[in-house]
Amino acid sequence: MKVELYFGESLGRYSFRTDHPFGPDRLHSFWRETVKQGLNRRVKIREPVLCSEEGLANFHTISYIDRVKELSKTGTGYLDGGDTPAFPGMFEAASFVVGSGLDGISQALCGSNIKIFIPIAGLHHARRDQAAGFCVFNDCGVLIETLKKKYSMQKIAYVDIDAHHGDGVFYAFEEDPALIFIDIHEDGRFLYPGTGFANETGRGKAKGSKLNIPMAPGSDDAAFQLIWPEVEDFLRDRKPEIILFQAGADCIAGDPITHLKYSPQVHTFVTKRLCAIADEYCKGRILAMGGGGYNLTNLALAWNSVLEAMLE
Ligand SMILES: [Zn+2]
Repeated sequence: MKVELYFGESLGRYSFRTDHPFGPDRLHSFWRETVKQGLNRRVKIREPVLCSEEGLANFHTISYIDRVKELSKTGTGYLDGGDTPAFPGMFEAASFVVGSGLDGISQALCGSNIKIFIPIAGLHHARRDQAAGFCVFNDCGVLIETLKKKYSMQKIAYVDIDAHHGDGVFYAFEEDPALIFIDIHEDGRFLYPGTGFANETGRGKAKGSKLNIPMAPGSDDAAFQLIWPEVEDFLRDRKPEIILFQAGADCIAGDPITHLKYSPQVHTFVTKRLCAIADEYCKGRILAMGGGGYNLTNLALAWNSVLEAMLE
């Protein structure tokens, strides 16, 4: 099997209460559609893996890790100004998201041409020392630091089509030329977190290694197709060693908290193009993460589009 999917209850436990947009039924909504389409029989299912505190500390500060652990015991209060409530078991749940990503990259790097998908992942708003926007630990950030330190990678591509700008990834690596960062998101003047403007291209020796593409509210598949060639040229020019893909489904028309209007065909298209680039430059290494998505029908269709495109 050339596609591996991380799926299990311990991953589904990363969710907030039922009245929160990031509610408890996201993983199961995805899985019901996976089974309906028969994709579960075509992929290798892997159990979620727990990340050690040492692993988390490759990106996060010790004091922040300790704070999450402490608030996880009672599950009361907020980790940030009001978007990210604490819940009992939050520390372990968030650690399973990160650990599954780390296990995914080790599978992708030791196997040949194995593609990885982790539905509950891509928590791109968390900072090194704080939670933000429903994100406790930034699995993307931990993966990038690990790819640099443990696997000595110098050219790591991160491609993010979630409706929100991946500010937690962007600002953590703004001065790091090893991260080839590409983020296509709703214009920050209209949507949280209010960042990711076209003139944000990286700083210092990393200048020119980041590509932020803000999209007007209401942008559809045709608008996405217009900007894509720039993304593909940017990636091909830099010849990455691995691609991390944040495949947020909140850019699909009908999401309750954003204003983009793509169809899941964008997920199919981007996955196919990124897999082709991964085959060409990265020995096939690509790891996709579900990211955001708050309309359950949309996320089920978009994430399964990613899975199916990986299988082709
Ligand atoms: Zn989002």
